[in-house]
Amino acid sequence: MFWAERDNLDMPLSLGVKYGQLGIPGGMQLNEAAAAQWKAALEAAGFTLVTVFAAYEGEDYTNMATVAGSVGFIPPATRTVRLARTLEISDFAAQLGVGSIACHVGFVPEDPQQPDYVAVRQMVRDVCDHAAKHGQTFALETGQEPAGVFLEFIRDVDRANLRINFDPANLILYGTDEPIKALERLAPLVVSVHCKDGDPPAAGVPGALGLERQLGKGSVGIGRFVETLRKIGFRGPLNVEREAEDQETRIHDLAEGVRLLRSLAAA
Ligand code: MG
Repeated sequence: MFWAERDNLDMPLSLGVKYGQLGIPGGMQLNEAAAAQWKAALEAAGFTLVTVFAAYEGEDYTNMATVAGSVGFIPPATRTVRLARTLEISDFAAQLGVGSIACHVGFVPEDPQQPDYVAVRQMVRDVCDHAAKHGQTFALETGQEPAGVFLEFIRDVDRANLRINFDPANLILYGTDEPIKALERLAPLVVSVHCKDGDPPAAGVPGALGLERQLGKGSVGIGRFVETLRKIGFRGPLNVEREAEDQETRIHDLAEGVRLLRSLAAA
């Protein structure tokens, strides 16, 4: 997983990687010129983009409260803008010939009668219907909901192209579920994965998130995760994700993550 503007294509290429997911920062201008530039760069490098990932302006992943108040489709005041932005991301991905878009939907309420639930369900349907016109899947990332709640919501949205971007670390960072069991349960809907690691929130710090770690150094059990992906018949690419604040740590950890996955794949 690499970001436009922050990494560009040079970063994955420097790690010897030729496929991945492109994250689009909330403030980035999307227009035909940008799409044409990306398309040419991808083709020149022989790079396969599997997903275009939407992030939104104003998202804050500091702790549970900031996530609940700022991430994805949940904050009511952002919905109109973020829906338009997500459709724009879908169009941009289509211009690049990419068949899947994704985002974090945020903390979906458990109660299907709740007004935020109803509004977010409609928003996800609108994105799915738009993406379907481009032949794309729309994937929601795991993490903020336990597998059962997530699955219920997806069934309730009821769109054939709605899928899951499975991130095992998020389930640990948010303390929502056990990643391997969740993966087995969500398997038929998983269209893409993040290979990310982390440890649970520290005890006694209310509202804190866990700590993201270098792949293989956290609590996910990456060996077992990769093995389970194989077992469920997942054939897509293993996208390493590391969102450390400083770029040096991040690149170092991504390189180690790529190395680890290659050794697991060879085993
Ligand atoms: Mg992720």
